[in-house]
Amino acid sequence: MESVEIAIVGAGPVGLTLAGLLAQRGVTVAVLERRRERSPHSRAIGIHPPAQDVLRALGLGEALATEAVAIGGGHVFYGKRRLGRLALPEAPLALPQARTEALLEAHLETLAPGALRRGLSLESLTQSPDHIELQTSSGTTLTATLLVGCDGTNSSVRKLSGMGRTGRLYPDRYLMGDFADDTEFGSDAALFFSREGIVESFPLPNQQRRWVARLNERAQDSKDLAALVFARTGRRLPTDTCTWLSPFGIEGFVAETFLKERVALAGDAAHVVSPIGGQGMNLGILGAAALAHAWDGTPESLKVALTAHHKKAQRVARRAAFNTHMGRPLAPLSPRRALITLALRLPRLSQKFGEVFTMRDLA
Ligand SMILES: Cc1cc2nc3c(=O)[nH]c(=O)nc-3n(C[C@H](O)[C@H](O)[C@H](O)COP(=O)(O)OP(=O)(O)OC[C@H]3O[C@@H](n4cnc5c(N)ncnc54)[C@H](O)[C@@H]3O)c2cc1C
Repeated sequence: MESVEIAIVGAGPVGLTLAGLLAQRGVTVAVLERRRERSPHSRAIGIHPPAQDVLRALGLGEALATEAVAIGGGHVFYGKRRLGRLALPEAPLALPQARTEALLEAHLETLAPGALRRGLSLESLTQSPDHIELQTSSGTTLTATLLVGCDGTNSSVRKLSGMGRTGRLYPDRYLMGDFADDTEFGSDAALFFSREGIVESFPLPNQQRRWVARLNERAQDSKDLAALVFARTGRRLPTDTCTWLSPFGIEGFVAETFLKERVALAGDAAHVVSPIGGQGMNLGILGAAALAHAWDGTPESLKVALTAHHKKAQRVARRAAFNTHMGRPLAPLSPRRALITLALRLPRLSQKFGEVFTMRDLA
């Protein structure tokens, strides 16, 4: 029976970050991942400054500097009318999640060769006073001092260890797609508030751009997305260059605790926040860092750090709910429209918005 100090289930961005940080500290880790291959599709694209700090400490600074686009600010529109530009105090980086995961995976292989076991699922768990046993889909058993569930929103680890979560599904629906970038925005983002709901646009590496639109009606292909964007912003998307398209809904859940006996949770297994505002993966990376730095060989060593991270997650969940609300149809005289104007005009308010958007206020 194989034994490691920390077993991690899930090799998404959070599980891979955690494994890398622990391996860097000399902790023995094994990561079980049920997918044989990484998903080529990228949900998250934004890496905010505090998560950049974590990835740099892990040794990925040079790769990020070479591959990612630094987002300097965002142009704000109401429909077709440009209201102004919000400069950001520090630049978030735009890098597709699949690429972030590829960098993390390759780096883990250099730090702890063979630690990642692809094609292996967690099936069941047995807790003992001094260790935890994981039964895997190949019939093998792995023992560990601690198990960390980084296995996403439907986390088996969370369910098998009896940790509940609270939150809700939102009624909002969105469609996003990646296209060639033929805009004048360069490395800036653009937000188009409108009577019909928000349209967001973010730069990606290799002259690509992501467009995201809130849906009021049925829309499923790149032509539908282009029609929505045109109706709300007057801009035409180059539909023949669409490389990926995905509808998504909004959910917001936080687990009641991130630590129970010998089981901890991180990433979407612990907290799922609305993608509007782009903070879910970032929050997960911060949780992984908090856990890795606090670990000193016993689950008790994590209590303080994971309680603090739980509070952070609740804050981020509240702001994600606010962001989702801001994306809904906006009448010209609504208080939300007035708030946008104020944020663009008052330097202290725009500074505050910038800090919240880039998650610097959480440090
Ligand atoms: C449309 C959309 C856009 C988003 N944009 C952003 C953004 O711009 N910025 C941002 O910060 N966040 C964003 N997010 C959120 C972000 O994608 C997630 O927060 C992030 O993927 C969570 O990472 P994770 O490692 O916790 O989980 P996941 O990425 O879900 O990875 C979990 C892994 O666990 C594996 N697994 C599951 N069960 C088992 C099992 N039993 N055994 C073994 N393996 C298992 C899965 O195969 C998977 O690889 C977005 C989300 C969506 C839906």
